[in-house]
Amino acid sequence: MTTRTPLIPYFRHRATQAELDAVRDVIRSGWLTTGKVAAEFEREFGRTVGARHAIAVNSCTSALHLALEAIGIGPGDAVVVPSLTFTATAEAVRYLGAEVIVADVDPRTGLLTADLLERSIFGRCDVKAVMPVHFGGRAASVVGDGSGSIAQVAAKHGIAVIEDAAHAFPARDRARPVGSLGTATCFSFYANKTLTTGEGGMVTTDDDRLAARMRLMRLHGIDRDAWSRFTSAPDSWQYDVVAPGFKYNLTDIAAALGLAQLSRHRVDHARRVEIAKQYDSAFHGELAMELCPLGDDPEANAWHLYWIRLKAGAAARDAFITALMQVGIGTSVHYRPLHRMTYWRERYRLNAADFPGTERIWDGCVSLPLYPDLSDADVLRVIDAVLVHAPTVVGSR
Ligand SMILES: *Cc1c(COP(=O)(O)O)cnc(C)c1O
Repeated sequence: MTTRTPLIPYFRHRATQAELDAVRDVIRSGWLTTGKVAAEFEREFGRTVGARHAIAVNSCTSALHLALEAIGIGPGDAVVVPSLTFTATAEAVRYLGAEVIVADVDPRTGLLTADLLERSIFGRCDVKAVMPVHFGGRAASVVGDGSGSIAQVAAKHGIAVIEDAAHAFPARDRARPVGSLGTATCFSFYANKTLTTGEGGMVTTDDDRLAARMRLMRLHGIDRDAWSRFTSAPDSWQYDVVAPGFKYNLTDIAAALGLAQLSRHRVDHARRVEIAKQYDSAFHGELAMELCPLGDDPEANAWHLYWIRLKAGAAARDAFITALMQVGIGTSVHYRPLHRMTYWRERYRLNAADFPGTERIWDGCVSLPLYPDLSDADVLRVIDAVLVHAPTVVGSR
């Protein structure tokens, strides 16, 4: 492809000298895998989100699996997952032989609500957990202001709240940071997330018992991890295996990247908020599109995604994406919903008609570039291109 102007990719991570120095120091230290840097990353991350325990892992998918395993999910159990998510949320339930109940979302926000949760639980006695997804970085109303919150419905039915917070560092639900809300919260540090270690994740909880189980299962079910064996020589060869665990630990190399980014997360987040506000004011009142709500408190949103919905629908959206690519602007789509994916659709015989909220977002949604490294000129170029290429269909629905 040839473009006169430089490409504005859908995402580009910020790599400063701090990241390069931190990784170099680890490589020179003589200890590459999980050790004191990962431990420091856990402490700092836990402190930042206000959680007693933060357990570093190699992906959010691993975190989701560990959390569900720790609360005892297994065959015969069911877990509620919103349709508007990445497949990993639901897949982790299937790892444990449990079944997924696919729920609809609010058409305005893309979030699971207490009402939709109540509806998907109705008449079932096998539901053990709900997995709210903080879609795009906006916190689902987990605790909210008490009444009508997901936590309240969960408490009434005695089910756990395992949050998929892959989009949601650093987000808040009212005053409380995501990471300190539910039974356990799972973060992603995948390459294009708001904080990235290339591949990585974190699970936070205030529950000592759950934390101990997740730490154990993170590394083969070994009763002492490699670092504590290394540092407690001379009996460093001694260890016992007490469960068939997994291999989900995060390396010190990745943790060093994470720590460097964590130390400037306020600045990076402020830039995301600024860009989201610019998009919002530029697109406000455009008849061709609906906007993701800025909300009463834009600062509470982690702004992993800035999505719009083209009223002209999914086919027009696909043409719009091509048109933007031709002027050198990358975009993405979040998400083709679970009920439209072969495996989930066939296993649970799902019908699009049963997911009106999710369908409404899917029918025209597109995510625009949103990251701290976007310059003011980049933002203006994106705004111009969107205004030029958004299909000129006046809202017919
Ligand atoms: C990225 C993502 C995941 C998976 O994260 P990994 O760290 O790649 O395992 C899970 N859920 C959602 C909503 C995501 O966006």
